[in-house]
Amino acid sequence: MTTFSYIKQLDDFKTTAAWLARRGWSEAAGGNMSVRLDALAALHEDDHIELPVEVPYIAGQIVLLTGSGTRAREIGENPEPNIGLYKIADDGRHYGWIAGNHNPSMELPAHFAIHNALEKNRPEDKAILHTHPASLIALCHVPGLNSGKAISDKILSLQSEARLILPEGIGFVDHELPGSLELGLKSAEQLSRHHLVLWQYHGLLASGATLAGAFDKLEVFEKSASIYWKLRAANIDPAGIDKSTIKEILKAFGRLDRY
Ligand SMILES: [Zn+2]
Repeated sequence: MTTFSYIKQLDDFKTTAAWLARRGWSEAAGGNMSVRLDALAALHEDDHIELPVEVPYIAGQIVLLTGSGTRAREIGENPEPNIGLYKIADDGRHYGWIAGNHNPSMELPAHFAIHNALEKNRPEDKAILHTHPASLIALCHVPGLNSGKAISDKILSLQSEARLILPEGIGFVDHELPGSLELGLKSAEQLSRHHLVLWQYHGLLASGATLAGAFDKLEVFEKSASIYWKLRAANIDPAGIDKSTIKEILKAFGRLDRY
């Protein structure tokens, strides 16, 4: 297979990468994205690369993953040279390259571990993206905002619909070495309950049925954070919408059980 331009998910990469670049959320080669597909190719016997983690739930599946050092602004123009197509072997312990860019993001094991957890807990979420929005990273430097609950309560109470989109709040992982498997494994655990995970001092991980869907949730969280920073610039530390009103909103839309 020399080309895979017919894979419809490439359009999702193209559009979402262009938006990440336009918003200034993926500077230089920062960030990465992946989407898993139903199997469509065989893996050669001599292309079994060992994984540092076991991923039995996605055994036999195909994953599209951004290449190492690739730029969102370039993926937004021409995705195919910047994205690789990989297959997880049937044993869930090896993988191989099939087509496209064959120098994967150093976060390949982390992406596979996260897809494995999603397939187990929320199989409809096929896409994950990681990016560096400044207003979200800045939250990590505010004393007291050092847990998913503290950040969710403070930031998602600033706009009437934010908690409705993210009723379970956001997950949080204390600072870990960028690209480490540990960061991937901790994120996988958090993503089983949340659609967004903030990596302390680093950036955000988002999941969705598509990359565009993951981007939607990132946008909602980022909007609330930008409201927070506007208020702080005006010397206001906002108390936010009170808890009983938040619960009323969630109840009206049948989402209180996810709060
Ligand atoms: Zn990063």
